[in-house]
Amino acid sequence: MDALLVVNAGSSSLKFQIFGITDAGLERQVKGQIAGIGTHPRLQAKSADGTVLVDRSYEAGVVGDLPAAIVAARDWLLTLEGLKLRAIGHRVVHGGPDYAAPVLINAAVLEKLATYQDLAPLHQPNNLAPIRQAMAINPDVPQVACFDTAFHHSHPEEVNCYAMPRHFYDDGVRRYGFHGLSYEYIAERLHEVAPQNAQGRVIVAHLGSGASMCALKDGHSLETTMGFTALDGLPMGTRPGQLDPGVVLYLILQRGMSAKAVSDLLYHEAGLKGLSGVSNDMRDLLASDDPHAKLAIDHFVYRCGLNAGMLAAALGGIDAFVFTAGVGENSAPIRARIAERLAWLGAVLDPVANEAGAMLISTPQSRVALYVLPTDEELMIARHTLALLKTRAA
Ligand code: ADP
Repeated sequence: MDALLVVNAGSSSLKFQIFGITDAGLERQVKGQIAGIGTHPRLQAKSADGTVLVDRSYEAGVVGDLPAAIVAARDWLLTLEGLKLRAIGHRVVHGGPDYAAPVLINAAVLEKLATYQDLAPLHQPNNLAPIRQAMAINPDVPQVACFDTAFHHSHPEEVNCYAMPRHFYDDGVRRYGFHGLSYEYIAERLHEVAPQNAQGRVIVAHLGSGASMCALKDGHSLETTMGFTALDGLPMGTRPGQLDPGVVLYLILQRGMSAKAVSDLLYHEAGLKGLSGVSNDMRDLLASDDPHAKLAIDHFVYRCGLNAGMLAAALGGIDAFVFTAGVGENSAPIRARIAERLAWLGAVLDPVANEAGAMLISTPQSRVALYVLPTDEELMIARHTLALLKTRAA
């Protein structure tokens, strides 16, 4: 069977999926990852029906970094029979000011993407590593880069600029926004399941360990809560969300913290984890009776409501609100509390549908339709990869 490999590479995990290309479209065949790279490396993969295909642990030194994980994953993938690899689709966090859509990768594109490493130093190098390795090993297999920023690329300058001297904007200091592959998938999904809303004004809340919201109009991004980096906007598992830049200046100038220490704080020690002192995981916070865990949840819900209000203003009102990603898809209590904060917009939750995890969780009287739609960034990457493969063949 002809197949596509989708790769999502981070510093501590390498996620991959295989999609078969059939007459009926794309069919997920394998979903796997190597997690705990450099600490407790573990390769796990399942078939589409949930059958465990592999569950293998490695010594930390054997899979000590991402390149070693890529080799380990490749070695295992080569044992799969009956698949003919047609292309590889990669999640690449930053498409910079240039890329408004996924792109077939060649040496010149790769060089360009490497120049965006300064814009996303924690993610971009990891995203590009498997592209380089695959190019060296398998130069004939086409590769496609799909960007987290591209979906927001159409934002006009008044939306994506900061009030800073002009040359910073020209140098790339802009509000790019992220989670674009998730929002694009949800926009397409909404078109399938609720076409009446897909045409309208919609807020999508991608609430995972990273969290953001996007204002969609007619399926296009109009505004989003993340900015130059994925630190802005909503509070997240370990990131604070919107923060007065004066805090950063204070930490460096008055408290003597190094830039590296501040970066570690903002990316890894803040957010729900820092505020609660308990955990970055919403499940732990909900289960905890520690008052600081309660504060972290209260703050998260409050900021979600506040940011929804901002996006509703950008849209001039809303017709639908979609919950997605880890917290949004799985946590009925958090959905209920956020829905309460949307009451002023006319949202009325159906608590039974919410507890049951139904797709539509608002009452028929609700002026805002509330949905729970699981996201699928990998499928979005596979769709883009297949589309570019076809244009290449044409
Ligand atoms: P990522 O951003 O890493 O892709 P996910 O979208 O998978 O993350 O979201 C992971 C987060 O979802 C976890 O850290 C956890 O806080 C949250 N989560 C998952 N299941 C539940 C649940 N049942 N209740 C509350 N939170 C949940």
